[in-house]
Amino acid sequence: MTNSIDRRGFGRICAGMAAVAAVGVGRLAHAADLPHVDEAGAQAQALGYVHDASKADKAKFPAFVAGSQCSGCQLFQGGAAEWGACALFAGQAVSAKGWCSAFAKKA
Ligand code: SF4
Repeated sequence: MTNSIDRRGFGRICAGMAAVAAVGVGRLAHAADLPHVDEAGAQAQALGYVHDASKADKAKFPAFVAGSQCSGCQLFQGGAAEWGACALFAGQAVSAKGWCSAFAKKA
C-alpha cells in the first residue's frame, strides 16, 4: 500500500495539528459552519487540494490512490458530514469527497 505522506507533508501535518489545537475543541464542534477551503488558495495549491478527489492532479501527485478521499483520511474531522475540519486547513472546511497530497489513510 502506498503512503502518500512525505517529509514535507508530515511537517505540514504537524503544523496543522498545532494550529487546530490553538483553535480549540469548541471551534471544531462547529466545523459545519466553517468556510470551505478555496482550491485556488496558497495552501490548497501547495497540497494539491481539490473538492472532488477524482479531479486530483495525478501527474503532479503520482502517489494519488484511486478511491482515496478526505472522508477516509486520518486528518478529516467531519465524521459522516459532507464537509469537515482538517488539521491542515485551520478555520476552514474540506469536502468529505476532497483530497490533498497529505492524505493519510485511516487505520
Ligand atoms: Fe485534510 Fe483531506 Fe488532505 Fe486529509 S486528504 S489532509 S482530510 S485535505
